[in-house]
Amino acid sequence: MRFAIIGAGLAGLTAAYEIHKADPQAHIDVLEAGERIGGKLFTVPFASGPTDIGAEAFLAARHDAVEFFTELGLADSLVTPSGAKSHYFAGGELHPFPAGGVMGIPSTSPDTSSDNAQDAPFTWTPGDDISVGALVRRQYGDEIVDSVVSSLLGGVYSSTADDLGLRATLPALAAALDQLAEAAADSQVTLSAAVKTVEAQREAAKQNSSETRPVFQTFKGGYAELYEALAEHSGADIHLDAFVSAITKSGDGFTIKGGGEGTYDKVILAVPAPTAAVLLRDIAPTAAPYLRAIKLASSAVVGLRFDSADGLPDNSGVLVAVGEPGITAKAFTFSSKKWPHLEARGGALVRASFGRLGDEASARMDEDALVDAALDDLKTITGFDGREAGLSEIFVQRWFGGLPAYGVDHIATVAAARKEIAAVDGVEAIGAWAGGVGVPAVIADAQAAVHRLVEN
Ligand SMILES: Cc1cc2nc3c(=O)[nH]c(=O)nc-3n(C[C@H](O)[C@H](O)[C@H](O)COP(=O)(O)OP(=O)(O)OC[C@H]3O[C@@H](n4cnc5c(N)ncnc54)[C@H](O)[C@@H]3O)c2cc1C
Repeated sequence: MRFAIIGAGLAGLTAAYEIHKADPQAHIDVLEAGERIGGKLFTVPFASGPTDIGAEAFLAARHDAVEFFTELGLADSLVTPSGAKSHYFAGGELHPFPAGGVMGIPSTSPDTSSDNAQDAPFTWTPGDDISVGALVRRQYGDEIVDSVVSSLLGGVYSSTADDLGLRATLPALAAALDQLAEAAADSQVTLSAAVKTVEAQREAAKQNSSETRPVFQTFKGGYAELYEALAEHSGADIHLDAFVSAITKSGDGFTIKGGGEGTYDKVILAVPAPTAAVLLRDIAPTAAPYLRAIKLASSAVVGLRFDSADGLPDNSGVLVAVGEPGITAKAFTFSSKKWPHLEARGGALVRASFGRLGDEASARMDEDALVDAALDDLKTITGFDGREAGLSEIFVQRWFGGLPAYGVDHIATVAAARKEIAAVDGVEAIGAWAGGVGVPAVIADAQAAVHRLVEN
């Protein structure tokens, strides 16, 4: 059996590994447009040690991911954060994040602004979707959305709460609204009651669990440990600089334009959704409108290494409120405060992040301007003067179309795209746009697709 996988990011490499596991005789070609593997996982060799400039952690509460890394022989590479908390910067000041709630949405309506609707009851039809921003603005006012909710969600999705769908990004809260609406004779619900429901479910799960595992972890040597292990154990031929521009049906199989040789029995597209739309135009044209509807958010990450950490706050980082005057960055991760294995290298390691959905300008700023903005914003927010602390290493990475925006109706859009693709035998499309942007979700989505493909 001959497989072509388009894209050597996490999804594509996981798929290659899983195919090889299921069928060691299979011939697998991975066709990657870029000059390296890993996609949005990218570990840069700083002189002080390997440094992640794309994803930098994973949700270790996802046991399936930890089991997968263990299967790959990487259990001893997993390291745990210090436990330092992040803060947010709003109104020119640093604030701790409020305890409890759901992604910064509290269980009581904040009694602050005149536009606050005081969480008036509203009608909810189970299965409804709405943008997180629209819901929370209407019920709790603007301030909580712009300062807290958007900065927290933006840290995961590179979009503000207004561009993110409730059901895709806060599924437990959407389910709680469904549950409350089903229980109410008039389908009237409140946001505060839904948040309280989620808090109670979380508390009950905690009581019933003997979980000792940390919530987040990462790899001691950076994500390169993962993508290199996947490549090594995938049994695949990985072709770099292989930009695929079309897939066509050829007899019972497929031919690929731009890479690979001969025909393939099965094809997996492991590329961003708009690219999948283009590549599927011949073999699954009806999937294209759904895939094209998934927007992408661009961002830039500036990795900064300082000789001294004196004066850098003992937090894991800072998230910046949307529209905060005088600040260009959207977040800082104080990597050496967050991760003890990085602190042990001495000095300080800081990641500055720029850009959200709809703000391409930050990701396009020239390198010097990005570095200056990172240093200036860091000083304004924390008082830490990076220029005086001795800036010894810099790496600037732009992530154009880095993350898919999980907007309103995203789940329905993905389901519709997948239904159209499923009508074509031997083809799957996977990646961060489909089953969740986090590393464990991308792995699980790729595994499920391979099982469908290999079993059929
Ligand atoms: C800045 C940033 C920080 C993040 N931080 C975290 C984090 O801390 N924790 C976490 O869990 N997740 C994080 N994520 C999300 C996570 O990294 C991604 O969701 C995941 O790595 C995406 O994997 P993928 O394989 O779906 O896509 P990609 O990594 O985008 O891989 C797709 C690959 O396809 C290739 N390709 C595209 N078009 C073509 C073509 N025409 N022909 C051939 N090849 C093509 C690309 O070059 C790329 O290598 C972060 C993402 C970003 C951008």
